[in-house]
Amino acid sequence: MTRIAIGGFQHESHSFAPRPTAWMDFVKPGGFPPLQHAATLLDALRPTAAPCAGAIAVAEAEGVDIAPLAWAFANPAGPVTREAFERITGLLVAALSDAMEAGPLDGVYLELHGAMVSDDFPDAEGEVLRRVRAVVGPDMPIAVSLDPHANKTAAMVAHSDVLVPYRTYPHIDMKPAGAQAVRLLLRMIRDGVRPAKVFRELDFWTPLPGQCTMVAPMADVMAERARLNEADGVWELGFCFGFPYADFPGCGMAIASYADTLDQAAAAAEALAAFITSKETDFALGVAPAAEGVARAMAMRGMTGPVVLADTQDNPGGGGHGDTTGLLAELIRQDAQGAVLAPMNDADAAAACHAAGEGAEITLDLGGKSDGAPLRVTALVEKLSDGCFTLSGPMGKGNPANLGLSALIRVAPGVRVVVVSRKMQAHDQEIFRFLGIEPAEQSIVAVKSSVHFRAHFQPIASEVIVVTAPGPVVADPAVLPFTNLRPGLRLRPGDNRRTA
Ligand SMILES: [Zn+2]
Repeated sequence: MTRIAIGGFQHESHSFAPRPTAWMDFVKPGGFPPLQHAATLLDALRPTAAPCAGAIAVAEAEGVDIAPLAWAFANPAGPVTREAFERITGLLVAALSDAMEAGPLDGVYLELHGAMVSDDFPDAEGEVLRRVRAVVGPDMPIAVSLDPHANKTAAMVAHSDVLVPYRTYPHIDMKPAGAQAVRLLLRMIRDGVRPAKVFRELDFWTPLPGQCTMVAPMADVMAERARLNEADGVWELGFCFGFPYADFPGCGMAIASYADTLDQAAAAAEALAAFITSKETDFALGVAPAAEGVARAMAMRGMTGPVVLADTQDNPGGGGHGDTTGLLAELIRQDAQGAVLAPMNDADAAAACHAAGEGAEITLDLGGKSDGAPLRVTALVEKLSDGCFTLSGPMGKGNPANLGLSALIRVAPGVRVVVVSRKMQAHDQEIFRFLGIEPAEQSIVAVKSSVHFRAHFQPIASEVIVVTAPGPVVADPAVLPFTNLRPGLRLRPGDNRRTA
């Protein structure tokens, strides 16, 4: 009987985010399952939207025996601490060793993000895969699913046999990517073959808002990728748009192409690289300052469905803390009506609301813990919650969320705020509904997100406006103080300046 090991370790690290990512952030993440050991991994992940769920489903359908390892996810933030990296990688490697001791093992599937930076390893997934390869030896197939925000590196390609990124942003195909990685793993095991591989970096960056695969140009790029993936002999043509906030030479867009022959892999990679490069200037996408975005939203009030304002620079899914107050201040200043914002990640404020009780009026220094700029408000506590609910949107359907003590507060006649104790990107309408708010019935819905919100909110929105307010996930990453990028990169699409 075929037997494979399954595990995961996901983090997207922002070199300049205000807070590091520590062990407890993996033990208690918001919006994703908590850290899993071997004994609980399969039952915990099967009902979720995680790539492992797709991997498990294929393995079980194929009658493959599964050796569960460990699994951990934390929300994007600063680099992963040395302790957290060593403990989680240690859990994976120790469980792998146990699995090999218990019986013959035929292959390994890992769910990785691909943009993790740790205190010691700027290419953290390259290091995880180096250790896993060292344990299983050169002959055992290793298949990996990646987030397309991976900063894919030569080391990651070298230490694995195939890397399969999701194809969508918003990421609505995490399970299919895990499933496809395991299908390719089983092909390697059963046929005793490995694909030839070609790694190809691109020499310009695309900002997050320009990476959305629902609209041009990225929609066209992914359609072309799918077409090229059908060419003779091609196993997998994987394109990652990268996460342009990691200060190391591997940061950027890259292709990993796998095929029967080196020529086939190279031809597919070169064709896709040429197509992407031909679209370069189209990736610069418009954003509006918060004041302008709020004014435009107010002028549109009365249309069918809410105007959705996306606070991209404080995106908790990009390393923001989800607590800056620039957009909220603007909603209050312009006396917006029928507006609600989520989430405001402030455990102190949530605790104060719970202490005061529903119906109480309290004064809060709300948010701003990450940048020292809280907003003083008088708040009416309208509703309280323990913060536990289940996601229902296209990205996270079935995922358990636990945001800790939470509250819905009214901070101005027309402005309400969802206050939570743990951060989560607002990519799912349940982040409003768990406090009794139906997003479709609001005039203005403000979300801390860059692109992921579009999967669940665009269908109900009359208009979407991506706005800029203070936060570390800057819409133009070229303004950040990078010192370790590779030479020859253009940090803005179409920009003439290159890194030296
Ligand atoms: Zn991503």
